Amino acid sequence: MSRAAGTGAHSAHPRKWALWRQPRAMVWYFLVIETAAVGMVAFFAVRDELTFYDWRQFTLIISLAILQAEVSRKIEKARRLITKAPHVNMTSVWVFAGATVLPPVLAGVLSILVYLHLWLRIWRKIGNRPIYRVAFSAAIVVLSAYATMGVQQGDALLQRVTGLNNATATAIAVVLAAFTYLLVNSTLVAVATKLYGQPTRLVLSLADYALEIATLCLGALAALALVTTSYLVVLVLPPLLVLHRAVLVKQLEELAVTDQKTGLLNATAWHEGAKNELSRAARYSDTFGVLMVDLDHFKRVNDTYGHLAGDEVLKSIARLLKDEIRDYDSAGRFGGEEFAVLIPSSSADQVVATAERLRQRVTELVIIAPTENGETVISGLSASIGVAIYPNSGTTLEQLMLTADSAVYTAKSNGRNQVVTLST
Ligand code: GH3
Ligand code: MG
Ligand code: MG
Repeated sequence: MSRAAGTGAHSAHPRKWALWRQPRAMVWYFLVIETAAVGMVAFFAVRDELTFYDWRQFTLIISLAILQAEVSRKIEKARRLITKAPHVNMTSVWVFAGATVLPPVLAGVLSILVYLHLWLRIWRKIGNRPIYRVAFSAAIVVLSAYATMGVQQGDALLQRVTGLNNATATAIAVVLAAFTYLLVNSTLVAVATKLYGQPTRLVLSLADYALEIATLCLGALAALALVTTSYLVVLVLPPLLVLHRAVLVKQLEELAVTDQKTGLLNATAWHEGAKNELSRAARYSDTFGVLMVDLDHFKRVNDTYGHLAGDEVLKSIARLLKDEIRDYDSAGRFGGEEFAVLIPSSSADQVVATAERLRQRVTELVIIAPTENGETVISGLSASIGVAIYPNSGTTLEQLMLTADSAVYTAKSNGRNQVVTLST
């Protein structure tokens, strides 16, 4: 029996792909996207007549793509180990340059080879990215590249309609093409995310979009070099490598403050924020609140549905906390099923009202969680919330945390699912 996608290497054999255990709509979507991408490449392979010049440009781009991936292999590997989430992998430089200067068949083949190379050299070894997802990403990139080419074909039309000169029309078409790439790519990925049953927010963070735009800009400049003084295309390598490294550094910084399971702040980072708030409140004679949130009978969730389902509950609670608090409040996970919320610059009444709202929302949660026998619906959860208010409940962070902790304890012994405030 093959086990569900877990840690370690994923089976490369198509029959064992985790894909077939995904929701049916997801499987269909995968097949449609794959067929469209492969079909288009095949169509262009028959149609396109390739010249020596085309092959030379293709060789130049693929060599640089492989060189760049090899030089920054450790960087990309580290980034992959840090996160499973979709992220910008810098290959759009080559895909976009290819889509701008190559005939369609070579642009398609280029995209596929770039992904194949990344899979062989990086992702396969890490094993946190099933092969069907790599095939899927590659197909999405091929289709995005073709959408881009379609837009770039429009420059003649643009010229005719607007009366712009050739250079201006081409420039506009290239910029529009870059946006098309971004749009088609994120739309196709967003649909997949939706079919996976994950909440569709932005697929990438705003910082990642900025990075993707920077990458596409480099791609456009690479294309410009390729059609004028082709060997100058190597000039995009240094900025690309430096950018890639800077992104890793930023990811490491985020990793240092984030709880991996839930994406909330980790205990250290939360404490840091709370300490800052304490000194601010002391200086301005302000009040703020600390909540300790402990799920009730969480062990039962694990015992009944398994650890995986338990983890899903923790993630849902984390999302709920994030959604329900203000931007300048901060939520952290203190290991296990204990969460802390910092509510700066608020009165005791406001803090208690927030705690009460959170408690209410937890009871309303309906969570679809994975178990060994498929998905299950978990509801009827509750949490005990202990409240401490600065300066009434304590004037140091330790005192506040201790007070909030004993309030949780009181809430538990009073029958759980309640908010308790203690003052000293
Ligand atoms: P109470 O209402 O008294 O808080 O009961 P409880 O079962 O929630 O409390 P207890 O502290 O006894 O149990 C907490 C459980 O949380 C024990 C552990 O199995 C589980 N747990 C801790 N961390 C994780 C985690 O990361 N994932 C999962 N799935 N379970 C966890
Ligand atoms: Mg506990
Ligand atoms: Mg508990």
